[in-house]
Amino acid sequence: MSKCPYIHKNKNNYTEFENQHNGQSVLVCDICGNIFFRCPKCQETNRSLALFCRSCCKSISLSQTENNLKLNLRNYEERNTLPLPSNSGKILTLMSYCGFIFITTVNKCFVSNMNEILGELDFFGESPLGSSFIKTETKAEVLITSNRKIYSINLLDLNKTVEVLYEATDSASIVHAAVTTTTDIYWVEADKNSATKRFSSLQKGDHRKYNGGILPLLKGGENKIFITTTDKLELYDSQNGNFSSVTLTDGKKSDVINTGCQPVFDEQKNAVYLFGEKNLWRIDLGEGELKAHPLQMESTGDECMTITGDGRILVSRSDGFYILNSFGTVEWQADSIYIPEASNFDGRTPQTSGQYCIFSGQKGNSSVFRVYLLSDPNKYSERIVLGDLQSCAPLFRFGHLFVPSERSREQSLKIYRLKELY
Ligand SMILES: [Zn+2]
Ligand SMILES: [Zn+2]
Repeated sequence: MSKCPYIHKNKNNYTEFENQHNGQSVLVCDICGNIFFRCPKCQETNRSLALFCRSCCKSISLSQTENNLKLNLRNYEERNTLPLPSNSGKILTLMSYCGFIFITTVNKCFVSNMNEILGELDFFGESPLGSSFIKTETKAEVLITSNRKIYSINLLDLNKTVEVLYEATDSASIVHAAVTTTTDIYWVEADKNSATKRFSSLQKGDHRKYNGGILPLLKGGENKIFITTTDKLELYDSQNGNFSSVTLTDGKKSDVINTGCQPVFDEQKNAVYLFGEKNLWRIDLGEGELKAHPLQMESTGDECMTITGDGRILVSRSDGFYILNSFGTVEWQADSIYIPEASNFDGRTPQTSGQYCIFSGQKGNSSVFRVYLLSDPNKYSERIVLGDLQSCAPLFRFGHLFVPSERSREQSLKIYRLKELY
């Protein structure tokens, strides 16, 4: 009998999501609420941060196992509600790294499992901007950026005090969340008395100045960072310190970047996808040169985009939902009026987790979702309808849906699970 790998008395009670084909599964302990997973070789249960199986020493990873999960798309049920302390303020974003849930509210950032809050960070009046994740053989760290500071939370020891890695001077404020390469930490900050923005790093200070708008930094693999401005996409290579850039021009076709839609990076194809005001574009990273290609899809101007682990591009916009392949060809599309039924575009980015994605819509004051199987999106879950339009998008991970909830000003996280096996 396999047991929860965390320390407590009764260890035999857990919910399991199993892929019957290869025996891989992610589990949630019903006693302690921690997420853990099975070794695909020997079936031993391992903690979410494990890099090697505690029984047979095979190299393992939660994200790999999550990618292989099979879910039952027919129905879902409410698992539990995680209440937040009364002084937290509204939930702004939900993220998950390595089996932990990060709940960022107006006043705080909480690290939790399914049952309880394990650690917290107080912003003391600062405005949270975002988070990023670093994992190496010796480190599992989450960086939380506010408009004043960059904090580091050590996931290997949540009792450790949160570390401040950087603090902006009084005359500046950070405008985009920090991202990391193997050797440095990068962010964008603005001087209060001018329109100038600076792309900076911890080790080397300022790299470049910009006068117009900049989108949040985009990581490209281990050592590349993309900086998107209104007129071009710039690539910073942290290994040699070089910048290169490209505008949306190809032969007679030219376009300007739609800065309302965050670009995405495809690691396998070594390419960036971004929307111009006319078309979707792919930027190929050749040998030291960026090359722009217009793709077939025309813009509506209100796109939200994300990319899946296998390089599919998910687009949601006012005229429906789309799954595109890496050439920009539409593989599947659904008119938002029909799927989820009778709902309108809610301006939220589609989400992906392993072989599944969610698209959401809005109907009156309710949020409406479905979970879709990426390889055959005509297989989808029951419609999930949540009353009271939420302050932020729900998070979909490990076959669970995490939904922010507010009742008479008390904030909580409602957790739903998709039942049984697919
Ligand atoms: Zn447990
Ligand atoms: Zn093993």
